[in-house]
Amino acid sequence: MKRIYLDNAATTPLSDEARAAMQPYGAELFGNADSRHSFGRDAAAALASARARIAGCIGAAPEEIYFTSGGTESDNWALKGAAFAKGRGRVIVSAVEHPAVYESARQLERLGYPLSVLPVDGEGFVRPQSLADSVGEDVVLVSVMTANNETGSIQPVRELADIAHSCGALFHTDAVQAAGSIPLDVKALGCDMLSLSAHKFGGPKGFGALYVKEGVRLETLHSGGEQERGRRGGTSDVAGACGTAAALEAAVARMREESARVRALKESFVRRVREGIPGVCVHGTLDAERTLPGIVNLGFDGVTGEEILFSLDLAGVAASNGSACSAGSTAPSRTLLAMGLSPAEAKGAVRFSFGRGNTEDDAEEASAALKSIVERLRAR
Ligand code: PLP
Repeated sequence: MKRIYLDNAATTPLSDEARAAMQPYGAELFGNADSRHSFGRDAAAALASARARIAGCIGAAPEEIYFTSGGTESDNWALKGAAFAKGRGRVIVSAVEHPAVYESARQLERLGYPLSVLPVDGEGFVRPQSLADSVGEDVVLVSVMTANNETGSIQPVRELADIAHSCGALFHTDAVQAAGSIPLDVKALGCDMLSLSAHKFGGPKGFGALYVKEGVRLETLHSGGEQERGRRGGTSDVAGACGTAAALEAAVARMREESARVRALKESFVRRVREGIPGVCVHGTLDAERTLPGIVNLGFDGVTGEEILFSLDLAGVAASNGSACSAGSTAPSRTLLAMGLSPAEAKGAVRFSFGRGNTEDDAEEASAALKSIVERLRAR
């Protein structure tokens, strides 16, 4: 059976560029980048080059890039590191943040940092005015993601960063879904910190980076050796860094062409679904200016996302919902609830995310499979 992968927002396959870049750093160039002999120097040189190349992809200086174990660690470090360094103060996050940000903010709240959660509109966008209404001198940190993992909505990051700065707060953005899909420039975004995760753009799993603007103070969360300029201890993952640099550079180099191609696939899929199936709605928007190319979140009247996903999987089509599964029960997505959906509507949602490996045939075959599944489920 042919399998169709429409879950690129969950993870992506390793790109050829990343695989080739990582290959020598397993057995051949295995040195510890902190060793003083030639093996170590080779590793350190590769690490420095990867750092500079990743920095170059987002308009940062190499010294502003810190390597981490992925988006989750970058987000945790940005929020807790900045809050701990600033001392007591209020934290503001949006209602649609990934759990890596949201739960970090909730933990800070339990530790005595008051938390304000910004609402979003029906399409999942944070209105700058709601941040302007919420900020004050007591705020130490604002964190709003660059683009949402469930709906693809791109937030007005620059405006939000300016508002945060107007009251002296730091601004962090989780760019995990945006990186490799839309242009990112830390200066144009105006952020103090930005999180990246390699496996979302063809890099290895378990590797990420945090951009920290020069001069921003962050408390260390990983105490240990002097790695990452003494701010994050632990032996450096040289292969991960090289794979990430290669994957990000390749994604940026083909971004213009690939984004247009992937967006066209998504739009073709949605058109086919809407033509073939009544009672379908888009949660969020398809507006090309304000959404990531590959992500669309669809709701189907009268059936749950779980049922659809189960049947799609049997038909070889991999998609997802944004819900957190815990103890066997699936909670409705916090993001969709924040957008004003009822719990029942939120449970009916399915996220399809297109990527580099997808073709027009995938869009056609997946929409046909979806049509027969929804018809069958509705006919029960
Ligand atoms: N932030 C966002 C927006 C994400 O979509 C994800 C992963 O799904 C993460 C953070 C976590 O990244 P990682 O899987 O590298 O820990």
